[in-house]
Amino acid sequence: MKKHAESRTGSKPGKFGKYGGQYVPETLMEPLRALEEAYNKFSHDPSFKKELAGWLDTFAGRPTPLYLAANLTRHVGGARIYLKREDLLHGGAHKINNTLGQALLAKKMGKRRIIAETGAGQHGVATAMACAALGLGAEVYMGSEDMDRQKLNVYRMKMLGAKVHPVESGSRTLKDAINEALRDWVTNVQETYYLLGSVVGPHPYPTMVRDFQSVIGKEARKQILQADGKLPKAVVACVGGGSNSIGIFHSFLHDLDVNLYGVEAGGESLSPGQNAAPLVAGREGVLHGMMTYVLQDEAGQVQTTRSISAGLDYPGVGPEHAFLMNEGRAKYVTVSDEEALDAFKTLSQLEGIMPALESAHAISYAMKLAKSLATKDSILVNLSGRGDKDVEIIAKHIAQ
Ligand SMILES: *Cc1c(COP(=O)(O)O)cnc(C)c1O
Repeated sequence: MKKHAESRTGSKPGKFGKYGGQYVPETLMEPLRALEEAYNKFSHDPSFKKELAGWLDTFAGRPTPLYLAANLTRHVGGARIYLKREDLLHGGAHKINNTLGQALLAKKMGKRRIIAETGAGQHGVATAMACAALGLGAEVYMGSEDMDRQKLNVYRMKMLGAKVHPVESGSRTLKDAINEALRDWVTNVQETYYLLGSVVGPHPYPTMVRDFQSVIGKEARKQILQADGKLPKAVVACVGGGSNSIGIFHSFLHDLDVNLYGVEAGGESLSPGQNAAPLVAGREGVLHGMMTYVLQDEAGQVQTTRSISAGLDYPGVGPEHAFLMNEGRAKYVTVSDEEALDAFKTLSQLEGIMPALESAHAISYAMKLAKSLATKDSILVNLSGRGDKDVEIIAKHIAQ
């Protein structure tokens, strides 16, 4: 077990065991190579690190607090529940950690045109914010179906100065927007930087985005040692593409007594088309340039997904999670739409904190887990975002 954890990135860069890699057309190999080279250079450059830390502190609002949810702990009975408050960041979620990092890298690479994909619009908004701050142009691909469902985020992106390109292909949702962004990148690679929103896609994205998000775990590990005098029994985070979860897991990978739990969207049920849980309900396959777990049918066609939480609604998952699952280092579970709504209500009313529906999945599982643990134990939950964006959806469900 210990050996596994130590050799966790496998031997080849960009491979997590057999997962990850670069399953892309020939034309993308050179831009990916150039990106990897620039990232390797700047990620070790003290002045880049210092500049990024400055943006994270004064623009995004880092460090975020660690909060002991005492009322929730009392209500559940069992382990103490601590929340890492990424919901307090600018833009309302962890996504700004990654968009600031990549936008600054793009600027150093001399790229002035930034493209991105977005599903619910959260990554598009975080990209637009980072680009405006750094003086870069942003263009965001978004499925037209998603544009209808997430009008407010479309307005936000436009107000922040970004251009939004509707995508009419396929199911007109996130996976189609990613395909379209990759196509744009191939065509305009000279002046364009592709700012991917999670730990997915071809190498170096899963590694680079994880590094930018690992600030969450670095802070949280110190904070919980200080608050609690010891490491938590478990770390819990929701998994869409997997960036907030890998970001908090990473500092605990070598602490083998700390159990790591990734919570996928169980949706309505685990039947095909009714969830967004590729690690629990999918199979190995290739999607968006990576070998990973994918929700697919018998013929290998990508399946439609479903979740009350738009940010978790993706048929694939970051390759490092596939690796951590197979190694047994992290466990992956699901929480249904219904359970996430209950957790949203509970946390809102007991703590005065409205979680994003994505994060409510993690809260729900943490409540179950806390009950099964002793009162001397603690659980660290990543509260990846705030729920203001979800009030309309929740109001509809609660009224029923
Ligand atoms: C986008 C989003 C997620 C899912 O993305 P990951 O890459 O899995 O972190 C989770 N929570 C919030 C609040 C989000 O906006």
